Order: sequence, then C-alpha cells, then structure tokens
Amino acid sequence: MPSPIKGIHHITAISGPPKKNYDFYTNVLGLRFTKKTVNFDDPFTYHLYYGNYEATPGSSITFFPWQGVVQGSPNTGETTVTAYAVPKGSIEFWKGHFEKHGVYILSEESVFDDTRLLFKDSEGMKNELVESNGIVEIKPNPADGFPAKAAIRGFYGATLSLTDTGRTAELMQEFGWKKKGEESATIRFTSDPENNLGSVIDLKKEPGLKGRFGRGSIHHIAFRVPDDNAQQEWRKTLLQMGFSPTPVQNRMYFRSIYFREPGGVLFEIATDIPGFTKDEPLDSLGTELKLPPWYEQHRNEIERKLPDL
Ligand code: ZN
Repeated sequence: MPSPIKGIHHITAISGPPKKNYDFYTNVLGLRFTKKTVNFDDPFTYHLYYGNYEATPGSSITFFPWQGVVQGSPNTGETTVTAYAVPKGSIEFWKGHFEKHGVYILSEESVFDDTRLLFKDSEGMKNELVESNGIVEIKPNPADGFPAKAAIRGFYGATLSLTDTGRTAELMQEFGWKKKGEESATIRFTSDPENNLGSVIDLKKEPGLKGRFGRGSIHHIAFRVPDDNAQQEWRKTLLQMGFSPTPVQNRMYFRSIYFREPGGVLFEIATDIPGFTKDEPLDSLGTELKLPPWYEQHRNEIERKLPDL
C-alpha cells in the first residue's frame, strides 16, 4: 500500500451570494480569507477559500457561490457536517459570540469524549466546533474579536452520512486510518498522528436522508498526500481496488484526483504542494482576484461578470 493518508486537505461546499458567505466565514467564524479565485470549470463563478493564517492543509473550507442555486438539505451519501478545531475551554466564548451574531446553535454535547457545539452557517449548513488538544501552537487568523485562546485553527474532522458504513470503513482502513470507537450509529476513524488538523472522520449510518443538493451542501471532501508521487501511488491503488479516479487536475495550489467512495461521497486526493503562496505572498493572501494562467486572457470579462464581494 502507498503511505497512509494524513488527514483532510480541504472541504468544498456550495453557497448562495458570495458577500453573505464571505461575511459569515470571516466576520462570524473569524477565518482568514486566503484565496479569491474562480471555479476552474466555470470561470464566471468565484471559488472562495478560507483558512488559518498560513492556509495550511487541513484548514481550507472553500465555496462555489452559485447565485441562483436552490436551498440544499442533507442527503445520504454526502459529507454532512464540517467540524472545526478550537482550543480547550473555548466553547463558552463561542456561545456568547454566536448569540451576538444571531447564529443558530443546534446543540452542545459530548461525543467520543469531545465537547462540541453544533451550529448552522448562513446557508443552513451544519458545522461543529470541537475543543481539541495539540492545536494551540497553530497560528490562527489574528482577527479583531477572536482571541488566540478561542480562534479556529483548522478542521477537526467531518461526518459522512451513509446508507451502510461497511465498505467506507474498509476504505478508511486502506487509507491507514484507525477505528477509534463506535457510539450509537457512528463509527469514528482517526489518522496518525491523531492531533493533526482534519484527522477525524465519523461514518454515520443515516440511510433515510432524502435531501436536495444545493446551497449549504458539501460538494466534496479532499484528503492530503504530500506530493505528486504519493498521489500517483494512490491513483494506482484506487484503480486496483476497483475505483475510478479521474486523471490529475491542476488546481494551481494543489493537484487533484477525484473518485466516488463506496457510500457515494465524492472524495478528492490533493497534494500539499505547491500551496497557497504559489501566486501571492503569505501576508497578502486573498487580497486580489487570482486566475490560473489559462484564464488571464479573459480577465476583463471575468472581472466584469463576477459580483462584488
Ligand atoms: Zn477540492
């Protein structure tokens, strides 16, 4: 087998109007706006990236804001919850903060010994904050109103809602992840080392969800490999296992392959390299519209058609 998959690389979702999405993820969650670019398959739509200060792998939540798209709701066969890692003891801060901003809190509970706060974003998408060990050294976005002792550092993990967890669990084991435990309908897998960002995947047996793909739906979840060689090895292995990974796509800040895992969830395997400083310095990430070279000749038209942020 190729070397184990280290954790989540990024998660990509669908949102409504870009301004509303931007306001929520920067002003309400306090994330850094790390890249303003376009959907490489649809250049008149933004692709907006948010993360920690250095936009490290395991911290990027990204959105395609499709203006006219219908409201989505959770479906079996999708990634249905995104969990963010916050320092121990910070949930009280977040409850007060969410109250001030009118964020809808669904519940506060303890699951697998974690304290977590479940809430909805501006599009109704389910998210969690999870108090986590070993993350305080990671540099958060130094935004006003978000003290370092509470600020989000990146992903904690994600939940996949599945008809049957069996074959997805086998795939997570092939990825090199360990079964951590089982609580009610959920099996937890963790990558090694456990306290990496994005090192938890919960497989939830939830066969009855009959939602609709739209605003607030997660399009895909991407897992990390260090470089192109590791990605090629995984591509070969996935083919041998009977999956149908796509050819490698150049996403400027990483290279990607995509495939559907046995439960129907769209998985991506993305390289850590070259990273988000490929076309702008760390200090000014997210300040200008960045286009891949093949769209530069259409920059004027693209800028004219994109809505204001
Ligand atoms: Zn992706």
